[in-house]
Amino acid sequence: MFYIQPPKGVVILNTLMSCVETRIEYLELVYNNNADSFVGNIEYLFEGSIYDKTGHFTLRLLCSTSNDMWWYWSTREIELLEYRLRRVSTKQIYRMFRSIKNSTEHRKETSLLYEALNRISTFFSQREIFTHIAEEEHSTSCKAYNVQLKFQIIPDLLKKRLVDLKNGYAIIFCSKWRELIKSLFKSVLAREKIHLNNIDVTKLIKVDPRMKSMHKRIEQKLMRGGQIGESRITIENIDSEVYNFPPCMSHLHFTLRRRHRLSHNARFYYSLFLKDIGMKVDQALEFWRQEYSQPHTCGSSCSHNWQTDAKKFIYGIRHSYGLEGSHKSYSAPNCRVVCRELAGPRSEGGCPFKNFDKDELKKLLEAITKQSDMDKYLDAFSRQKPEVACATFFKLQRSKNIDNMSISSPVQYYQFMKEPDQVGL
Ligand code: SF4
Repeated sequence: MFYIQPPKGVVILNTLMSCVETRIEYLELVYNNNADSFVGNIEYLFEGSIYDKTGHFTLRLLCSTSNDMWWYWSTREIELLEYRLRRVSTKQIYRMFRSIKNSTEHRKETSLLYEALNRISTFFSQREIFTHIAEEEHSTSCKAYNVQLKFQIIPDLLKKRLVDLKNGYAIIFCSKWRELIKSLFKSVLAREKIHLNNIDVTKLIKVDPRMKSMHKRIEQKLMRGGQIGESRITIENIDSEVYNFPPCMSHLHFTLRRRHRLSHNARFYYSLFLKDIGMKVDQALEFWRQEYSQPHTCGSSCSHNWQTDAKKFIYGIRHSYGLEGSHKSYSAPNCRVVCRELAGPRSEGGCPFKNFDKDELKKLLEAITKQSDMDKYLDAFSRQKPEVACATFFKLQRSKNIDNMSISSPVQYYQFMKEPDQVGL
C-alpha cells in the first residue's frame, strides 16, 4: 500500500501492460469517487500483491518522464492510498506498518524521511498502540498516544495545523495517523521524482523497445487530448502566476506581453513550459491566439500573425501536446538547454543568470520580486553557476533558507514555488 520496495521477479509483457492499464482505470474511478463502478480485473489491484506493486512501480517509472503525467498519476495514487486506509481490514493496515518497518530498517541510504518512516511504523505496530488506533470508536481527536518527528518531514500537516510543535519536533497524536501516512507518502513520491529525474529515465526507456512502446501507449492514454489534470494555468491567472515562474520564463512572458511576438525557440520553450506546469491545450490555443492576433511592436524575428498563420500555429501547439503528427508529447527544456540559448537579435532566450548583463538582470529580477535592493545580490549572482544563482534567487523570493538547493529546470522552479514544502526532502 505504501510502495517502498519494487517487486522482484519476471513478468510477461502482456501481464505488465494489463497491470498498468487496469490501474490507470481504477485510479481514475477512485479519484472521481466512483470506485464501485470498476468492472476490470480486480486481481491486478489486490493491496500489496505482486501485480499491485508491479502496476504502481511501472507507472512511477513511466510517468516520471513528464511533469504533467507525474502530476496526474501521483495525485491519484495519493487518493488511492487514502481510499484504502479507510477501507482495508485491520490486518492489512498492520501489514502495511510492518512492511514499512522492514523496508526502511535495512536501507543503505539514510535520510530524515526514511528514518521517520521507520520510527512511525515501529511506533504504530506496537501491539497496544495498534489495537488502540484500530478500535472502531477511536476518536478523530484522540490524544492518548503521540509520536514525535522532526517538523521538516511533515510540512503539509504543519501547514494544516494538524500537529503541535515542541523544540523543533512535531507532535503527532494517534488520531492523526492516517493524515501522517498520507503526508509521508507524498514526501516519498516527491523524493522519488527528483531521484528519477537525476537518472534520466527517458533515455533508459528509449533504448528498450518494449518500454518505449508501453510508454507511448500510456502517454496517449493519459494525455487524452492534452486534457489531463486540472488546468492550473489559465488565460485569467497567468499574469499573476508569472511571479512564480523562474526568471527565464518570466522574461519570455513579459516580452511576449510587450511585443506580442517571440522568436521560434523562445515560443517553443515557453509553450512547453506552460504545458508542463498545467496549461490545457484549449487555454494554450486561446492564449497564443490573443497575443499573435495583435500587431507586433518590435523588430522581433517573428513576423507571423494569427490571422494568416492560424492553421500553422494550431498545428504547432497541438503537436507539442502530442495531439498531432507522431503524437509525441514534448517536455519543457531543462536549465542546460535554456542556458545554451544566446540572447541576440534572433532570440530573446537564454538563462538570465548566464546571458544577461547586470542592468538587464537587475531590471528583470526587480520586476519579479517585491525587493528593490537587488544591487547587493548581483555580484554574488555573477560569480555563481546559473542553477545556483537561480536557487539563491528562489530563496530570496520565498524568504527561505535551504541548504544545498539547486535548480535543474524551469518547471522544477515553478513546482518549488508552488510547493515550497517539497524542497530539500
Ligand atoms: Fe531558468 Fe534554469 Fe536559468 Fe533558473 S537557472 S533562470 S530555471 S534556465
